[in-house]
Amino acid sequence: MNYNSFLNRDYKSLLDTPGPVKHPGFSSIHVLILIVSLGVISSLLIFMSADASANKNGALQAHTSNVETALEDTSRITLPLSIPQDINPADNPVPVFNDSDDKNGTSDQVKSYIQNEDDPQWLTVKVKAGDALASIFKRHKLKPRELHDIMSLGKDTACLKNLRPGEVFRFQIDENQHLQKLVYEINPLKILHIQRQEQGFAAAIQVRKIEKRTNYAIGQINSSLFEAGKEAGLSDTLIMKMVNIFGWDIDFALDIRKGDQFALIYEEQFLNGRKINDGAILAAEFVNQGRTYRALRFTDAGNHSDYYTPEGLSMRKAFLRTPVDFRRISSRFGKRHHPVLNKMRLHKGVDYAARSGTPIKASGDGKVIFRGKKGGYGRTVIIQHGGRYSTLYAHMSRFKKGVFAGKRVKQGQIIGYVGRSGRATGSHLHYEFRVNGVHRNPLTIRLPNAAPIKKQYRSSFARTANALLAQLDMHKQTRLAMHQ
Ligand SMILES: [Zn+2]
Repeated sequence: MNYNSFLNRDYKSLLDTPGPVKHPGFSSIHVLILIVSLGVISSLLIFMSADASANKNGALQAHTSNVETALEDTSRITLPLSIPQDINPADNPVPVFNDSDDKNGTSDQVKSYIQNEDDPQWLTVKVKAGDALASIFKRHKLKPRELHDIMSLGKDTACLKNLRPGEVFRFQIDENQHLQKLVYEINPLKILHIQRQEQGFAAAIQVRKIEKRTNYAIGQINSSLFEAGKEAGLSDTLIMKMVNIFGWDIDFALDIRKGDQFALIYEEQFLNGRKINDGAILAAEFVNQGRTYRALRFTDAGNHSDYYTPEGLSMRKAFLRTPVDFRRISSRFGKRHHPVLNKMRLHKGVDYAARSGTPIKASGDGKVIFRGKKGGYGRTVIIQHGGRYSTLYAHMSRFKKGVFAGKRVKQGQIIGYVGRSGRATGSHLHYEFRVNGVHRNPLTIRLPNAAPIKKQYRSSFARTANALLAQLDMHKQTRLAMHQ
C-alpha cells in the first residue's frame, strides 16, 4: 500500500489536521506522572511479551522483509559465528526469538574462511574518500599481482570496483607479505571472503539472515496521533503504516478524537542482536469514537501480503476515493454552470485542481480500454474494472509511458499526469466513475471492498488471525490490569 493512500480520499492531507486541543487542567505534573507510569508499564510488558512471542512462532506467517530498507540506516556489525548459505526471507522465514537458526547448511569450505580471525596477522583498513582497492594495496605494500588475481575472479569480486568511504577491509597477510585472506562487508547482509588456495584465490559470499522479532504498542490519543504513537514507542514509519491500514475506514485528518486508542503487534528486524529496522504490522486495532476496527496481516502462498478484518474481508476498497493528490476540488458532481460553454449542464465527474504534471493513479485494478484524445476531454484514459465498473481520467498533460489500450493496471499505478488538454480552464483532473455504464458521484458512492481472503486460505488465515487476536487481547488486558 502506498504512503499516500490514506490521502486518496475526499479530504486533505494529515498536515491539515486541526492542531492539538489542549485539555484544560492537564498540567505538566500530570504529563510527568503519565510518562513515568507508561515507562514502568511498558518495561513490564516487554518482559512479558518475550514469553508470548516465543510460544507462537508456529502460528505466525512468513512475511517478506524489505531487505532494501533494512540496509539504509544500518551500522556495521561484527561477523557471526556461522554462515547461512542463502538468504531469501520468502523461502526461509526466520523464526521469532531463535538465536541459533543459522547453523544449518554451512559447508566446511565456507567455515574455513572465517576461522582464526583474531590472528595478529589481520590488518584492518578503512576506505578513505577517493580510495580504490589498488591504492589500498599500494599503501599497505600488498602485491599488485595479487590484486590482479582477485579482480579476475569474476562477478563475486565486481563489488570491489566501487568502494565507499568508511567501508572496512580485513586482510590476513603472512610473513612474506603475501595476502592469505581478505574480508569485505559488501553490505550488512553480504560479506565477501577471499582466500588463497593452492592455485590463486577463491571467493565466497556469506549471506546473513535478518532475524524478525515481534513487539507491540498500545496507546491512547490525547493531543495527536503522532504524539500518542511516539509515546507508545512507534516510529513515524509504523504510525504511517497503521494509518494506511485503517485509512480506508477512518479519516485520519478529520475523524480522530481525544480518547481514541490503538494497539499494534509489529515486527522488528534484527541483525546480530541489534535492531536495524521496523518490519510489518501483523495485527492492529484502532478504536475511533468508540468504534473498533481490527486488521490482520496475511501472506498467501504467492507471497502477497494484505490486511483483512477478523472475518477475512479486505481492509482495502477496490477503488481509491481520489486518484490524484489534489489541492482542492474545483468542481463537484452534478448540475453546474459550465465555465467554458457558458450554460447549465450536468457535470458527470469531479474536478480536482492540481499542479500540471501531478501523477494520476489508476483508482483500481483493471484494463485500459481507451488511451488517446477525446474531444473536450483532451488526453484521456478509460479503465475497465471487471464487468461493472469503469473510470475515466481526462485533461492529461501526457500519458505514462507503457499505458495503452489493452494494458492491465494495478490500483495506484501511475497512468498519466495532470494537465489542461481539451476543454479546460486550468490544470485539473476530471475524474468519472461509472457503474454499469451510469455516471456516479465518485465522492459519495459506497465503494466495494477489495477481494476477501481466498477460499483456499481461509483455514490458514483463521489460525493466524486467532493467534494474533489472542495476543492483542492479552496485551490490552495486561495493560488494563496495570491501571487498576
Ligand atoms: Zn470536469
